[in-house]
This record gives sequence, C-alpha cells and structure tokens, in this order.
Amino acid sequence: MTPAGHLSISYISGRFIKNISLPAIIIGGILPDIDFFFVGFDWFNQYHHVVTHNLLFIILTALFTSFHRSWIPGKRVAPALLLGSFLHLLVDSFMDNNPTNGIGIALLWPFYDGFFSPFNILSDAGNKTGWSDPVSMIKPMLLVMLYEVPLYATSMFLFLRKKRLTPTSRLS
Ligand SMILES: [Zn+2]
Repeated sequence: MTPAGHLSISYISGRFIKNISLPAIIIGGILPDIDFFFVGFDWFNQYHHVVTHNLLFIILTALFTSFHRSWIPGKRVAPALLLGSFLHLLVDSFMDNNPTNGIGIALLWPFYDGFFSPFNILSDAGNKTGWSDPVSMIKPMLLVMLYEVPLYATSMFLFLRKKRLTPTSRLS
C-alpha cells in the first residue's frame, strides 16, 4: 500500500474510534514507511518491510511516545499510535506487489526473519527489481493506488463532512 493509502486508513479509523488522538493514529499509520527516506540506497529494497515493519518497532515507538505525550495532541496518544502502526503492518501483510524482498512483512524481526502474509490481494506484475530501481516501481504503485481510490474518497468525504459541521466553518 502507498503512504497515501495508509494515511486514508488511519484517518478513517481515527474518525470512527472515539476518545483517541486522531493525529497520533495518523502518525502511527504512516510511521512504518519512514524508511522511505532511504529509498535511494542500494540496500533499501532488502530492508523495506523489515526494520520498521515489525511488532518490536511499533511497540518501541509507542513506548517512546508514551513518555513524550505532549508532542502529539489528543487523548490516549500512545495506544492511538500503536493502533495506527498495527493497521499499517496488517494492510502491508496482504497488499504487497514487491516479491523481490519477500511478500508481506517481517512481523517478528529481529527474532525471526520470516515474512508474515496470510494472503496477498496484489499481483507481483512481473516486478523483478523492486525498490532497487525506484522508477520501475512507479507503474505498480499506480495500480495499487487504483485499489486505494475508495479509501481516498471515504477519507475525503469524512474530512469535508467534519469541516462542514464545525461551527467556525458554518459562519464563513
Ligand atoms: Zn509500509
């Protein structure tokens, strides 16, 4: 799934779960893809869906957040961040079009290197290079974005509905 898809899932989840920090669930939802900062490096493809896509990483980031709650507004910041990150891992485990580094995510890394994927709804579409050649990933990622259109539409609908219902926007 693309970061935009994860963002949409986090936003939708955060809107439906009451008394939870919306910013935290959104940050948690995109946090595992923070490794994309290294996409230009040769080793990125080997470690994507590994180092930042496991239970240890999301638990440690939630623990870190619990000690720095004031950095993110809202209630139940650490659980919200953990939930957003967990949803990210779950979705990546069954939406992966890059077989060159394994299908799914290394859920139990660094204790176990195997990849977790209960099923996969995406095809590899002949993907032979993965993120070793980021340009070759553009077309497969555009296809993934087609799957994500309903998520974009739902999150945009919820965002616009909330904006319309807020008192300040009603006055304008
Ligand atoms: Zn991811």
